[in-house]
Amino acid sequence: MTKYSKIILDIINTSDEHLTAEQIYMRMKSQSCKAVMATVYNNLNLLVREGLVRKINVDNSPDRYDKIIRHDHLVCKLCGKISDLYLEDLTSKFESDCSVEFESYDLKLIYICEKCKTDNM
Ligand SMILES: [Zn+2]
Ligand SMILES: [Zn+2]
Repeated sequence: MTKYSKIILDIINTSDEHLTAEQIYMRMKSQSCKAVMATVYNNLNLLVREGLVRKINVDNSPDRYDKIIRHDHLVCKLCGKISDLYLEDLTSKFESDCSVEFESYDLKLIYICEKCKTDNM
């Protein structure tokens, strides 16, 4: 693992937000790390490939990066805000339902967050 991928992994694992590559880059800068944006992307891809970081796709919003500890997400369909949910692990249920062995699943519950509800009243 490179020096930068360690720093990036640390930023992701200690954050409760769901950071974009850009935000990770800004945090590295604030730790006076001299990496360029391309390095951040390369290392993020590497970490995702190695299964150390989870990438989350959200419609109309840049990819976010997250810890790999098992959890699900609640996503606001208006502003894209993501919150963590710790639901029951459904892997074995899904495996018996679809009779294939899969690596992981990505469960998103779509809602409208409090802030968007208020803003749209
Ligand atoms: Zn919202
Ligand atoms: Zn999460």
